[in-house]
Formats: sequence, structure tokens, C-alpha cells
Amino acid sequence: CGIVGVVGREAAAPRLLEALRRLEYRGYDSAGIATLVDGEVQRRRAEGKLGNLAQVLAESPLSGTTGIGHTRWATHGAPVERNAHPHATARVAVVHNGIFENYAELRHELEAKGAVFQTETDTETFCLLLDDLLAQGMTPEQAASAALKRVQGAFAVAMMFAGEAKTLIVARQGAPLAVGFGEGEMFVGSDALALAPLTRRIAYLEEGDWAVLSENDARFFDIHDNPVTREVRTTSVSG
Ligand code: GLU
Repeated sequence: CGIVGVVGREAAAPRLLEALRRLEYRGYDSAGIATLVDGEVQRRRAEGKLGNLAQVLAESPLSGTTGIGHTRWATHGAPVERNAHPHATARVAVVHNGIFENYAELRHELEAKGAVFQTETDTETFCLLLDDLLAQGMTPEQAASAALKRVQGAFAVAMMFAGEAKTLIVARQGAPLAVGFGEGEMFVGSDALALAPLTRRIAYLEEGDWAVLSENDARFFDIHDNPVTREVRTTSVSG
């Protein structure tokens, strides 16, 4: 129900947790964070309140300066840790708000090719679709573009790729997403409020947009993959 992400220069997990707290007002049943540690996707997830995730992180800290976080309001699959986001393979991690309406058909197609699912979520289908495209040799950008063309529904997503510590790819189709501009850092959140302590400089994805965040900028594309410009505004949301 809430998405946050950072391509950063300091420890990501505490910043992601704080940003998730600022999205708590939306409601959620579980939460999770993934970061890149030496280029590998590592994650921590917990059922229930963010305090539970904070405890898991205290017992088993996550290093890494780039990461994604999520508060989940389950639509497909029970609200248990196994179904909590981020969903991940060795190649990619995904957080997702909303619903991929055609997930059953995609899941069937991926299973026929040998994909093994761990959860009942619609989100894992998108994750394993990306994994399959990356395994075919696509770059993260190519895989994201191709995967986004296969899914239907109303959603926002953030994707993080193994070995790509300076990249997040995000997309919006029916659920808002704000990109935040820092000093040598970039952020993403479901709203500007989540990012208020990190930056006030925000650009909103428009309907159908996707964006590639690096440490210094964001490149925006429309639904047809045409490069587009999205205005960066300074918000007055209080931190
Ligand atoms: N449909 C996804 C799930 O059930 C995402 C739900 C959400 O927006 O939190 O896991």
C-alpha cells in the first residue's frame, strides 16, 4: 500500500523504515525492505506493524545504501511474511501497490517455462517475469520496459537489480508515485510526504510513465517508451 526507494549514499534501511512510517496512515498488514549488499539482493520482512520489521532489522541489520521498501495491504495471498514484499530472485527485487489483473495468465505462462513460485501474490508474477527477461540477457531497462507492457491493472512499482547499486526503475499506472531529487541521491515514494525528511524537490510520474533513477538524475519515459520531461517542483509538505 506504500512504496519507498532510495539510490543513496548512506545506510538505506533506516531511511526506508522512516519513510514507511510516514506512509502508515494508509493502512497495511505487513512490511518489508530490500537493499543491495555487495551487489546482492538482501531482504527483511515482517507481518504486522512496522515495529515488527524494525525489530527484525535490529536483530539482523541490512547494510547497503540503495534499497526499496513496502507496506502491504494484501489483495492476492494471505497477509503473512512469505507474501510480504519485496518479492525477489537473485536478479531482481520488486515492491508493488495495486493489482496486476492478468497475473494468473502470466503465472501459467512462466510456470510452463519452469518458473517456481514461492507465494500466491500477483506481485511475484511480475518479479519472475522480470527475472525471466533478465535471464534472457536483457538489461534492467529493457526488461522493465518489456515486463510493463505485459501487465494490466492499476499499480505502482519499484524495481531494484542485483549488481546495479546506482539504479532503481519505477513505474506508475493508476497509482501515484513521486520521485525525489537529492544531492547525489535519488528517492521514490508513494507521496511527497514520505520523502519530506529526505528532499522537497519532487517530480510526479504521469499516468503510464516509468523512470530510471540513478544517483544524480531520473530519466522519464511515457507509456510508449518516449523520453519525456517531468517538472521538478519544490513542495511545501512539512517534514
Ligand atoms: N496486490 C499486491 C499484494 O497483494 C499489492 C497490494 C498492495 O497494494 O499493498 O501483495
